[in-house]
Amino acid sequence: MSEKQNSYQFSGKYIIKVDIRCITGLHVGGTDEGFEIGGIDNPVIKDPITGFPYIPGSSLKGKMRSLLEWADSIVKFGTDKNGNPTGSLCDCGTCDVCIIFGCSAKTAAKEPTRLTIRDAFPKGLFDNKGKRRNEDEITDGTIADWRHNLGEKVYTEAKTENAIDRLTSAANPRTMERVPADSVFEVEMIYDLYKNDDVNKLKRVFEGMALVEDSSLGGGGSRGSGKVKFENFCIIKRDVTFYTTEGKETEVELNGKNTAKEISDNFNKLFVTRA
Ligand SMILES: [Zn+2]
Repeated sequence: MSEKQNSYQFSGKYIIKVDIRCITGLHVGGTDEGFEIGGIDNPVIKDPITGFPYIPGSSLKGKMRSLLEWADSIVKFGTDKNGNPTGSLCDCGTCDVCIIFGCSAKTAAKEPTRLTIRDAFPKGLFDNKGKRRNEDEITDGTIADWRHNLGEKVYTEAKTENAIDRLTSAANPRTMERVPADSVFEVEMIYDLYKNDDVNKLKRVFEGMALVEDSSLGGGGSRGSGKVKFENFCIIKRDVTFYTTEGKETEVELNGKNTAKEISDNFNKLFVTRA
């Protein structure tokens, strides 16, 4: 092992719990294979057990990463085998984005991925101890709102869009399933600390969230879908002793800063950063 690799020392984790509120309808695509006959084109992804839509952690993580790569001007331009232009993800293994979000197995530089993003489920599915509630126990939150506003077992809306033929003005409709505006999903992000300055890099995660808010999540973003807002931040620090010797966790005092942009802007005041 090289000296560089020896310098890793796992010292703890930050746990970021935050709500994702859909400001417009959200379409994170699922598969329509094997689902209901006569079902809608372009369905949203749903949990096969409960049938509730959810936001895969990979969707959010991929979007944050891609926007940070554009912000850092590290999108790699190339051409595919047919000569068409492509923009591919950075796989250098040494930049902030690669260290935080991870690299492919073939990258020479091996860094442990710092950021994990869990799948985000609708607010109200879990109680405050993290236990999944039974359907009849769900009386508040997004699932209760769906039941009230949309009806039993209906969690989505069908959005019809028209492609207009420029000569005949004939409309060529297509439908897309969306989670309705104002739905809220709960996400948990885990940020692992392996090196002294890893805490400084955590700021990039909040930058990524702020970038997503001014971009979009899921499909149809340029046509109005997928505007989201991160709210209700709760950030917990767990040192390695939390896991090994009954050490206590501590909540990061956010001093009223409760948007991704505010936390990013005040990062050095809120977090104990390292030289
Ligand atoms: Zn890179």
